[in-house]
Amino acid sequence: MTPVLEVENLTKHFPVRRGLLRRTVGQVQAVTDVSFSVAPGETLAVVGESGCGKSTTGRALLRLIEPTSGHVRLDGESVTDLGKADLRQMRRRMQIIFQDPYGSLNPRMTVREVLSEPLLLHGVATPRTLDAKLAEVLELCGLSSFHAERYPHEFSGGQRQRVGIARALATRPRLIVCDEPVSALDVSVQAQIVNLLQDLQRELGVAYVFISHDLAVVRHIATRVAVMYLGRIVEEGAAAGLFARPLHPYTRSLIAAAPRPDPTAGRVHASVQGDAPSAMAPPPGCAFHPRCPMAIDRCRTERPALRPFGAARVACHRAEEAPVAAGILPRDVS
Ligand code: SF4
Ligand code: MG
Repeated sequence: MTPVLEVENLTKHFPVRRGLLRRTVGQVQAVTDVSFSVAPGETLAVVGESGCGKSTTGRALLRLIEPTSGHVRLDGESVTDLGKADLRQMRRRMQIIFQDPYGSLNPRMTVREVLSEPLLLHGVATPRTLDAKLAEVLELCGLSSFHAERYPHEFSGGQRQRVGIARALATRPRLIVCDEPVSALDVSVQAQIVNLLQDLQRELGVAYVFISHDLAVVRHIATRVAVMYLGRIVEEGAAAGLFARPLHPYTRSLIAAAPRPDPTAGRVHASVQGDAPSAMAPPPGCAFHPRCPMAIDRCRTERPALRPFGAARVACHRAEEAPVAAGILPRDVS
């Protein structure tokens, strides 16, 4: 199947300036050489600790942040080469939902105003059909026309995120970048929003790039998973395989640190051992080596390339030694 989204060597390095002369003293290597593709109607989760570059990647896809280099194609058409006017057109087909529905909705606009803008701007509705289109998109997102005349502060967090989703869906995009869309919500509301996103995907065939640090949510929603560490993808593969046999030691520590889906166990806030090094000065060799329990001399000097491993990809010199999670058959790696 032709991918809806293709990302090739996407890179974003921010210069760091200091002093009166604002001299460049270094670079934050936020995203380096990130490549992946997303098939129509699938969910690619992008996971990693905060600061790993996942949000920067999401924003760079839509050019809300201009990439330093690399290519992004939507339905085979270059996004990275578009001029301003064409970029606006493109955003009809690729939208974004943010973590904070509070911050991303203008408090002085009613829901009707929030949704009318994209509907009219992109010609999805005319002034004559606006009410019907509005009702349609609200209903898709579990809201009703009754909510249209209200302001964001009159809603609960979950309802506000439904408005955020409705705004993204209004133009019937092919792909939505979801940047931590449930992280700011209560756990009980999280499930409702995740289920809504899944229902919408089944109904409309929209694809998601689902950015999250929460592996319990990712396990539930993702078709495939890309794991990022210090701005690079270190592992990518089908969700089932990745959880059954995580190939990269970092993926294993993320999974080990994730709260168990057992509700009686409560939420355990464990984390990966040690702190992530600065993206201004990534360690030489494998950037994970200072925290890696499997590091060998080679890891300190030679950066592992992201290489194919069966149907997955991994950047680790010792991926072949990855254990298989108990009770699950090894996946075919021939
Ligand atoms: Fe660990 Fe070496 Fe693999 Fe990096 S390359 S994850 S340091 S074993
Ligand atoms: Mg983020």
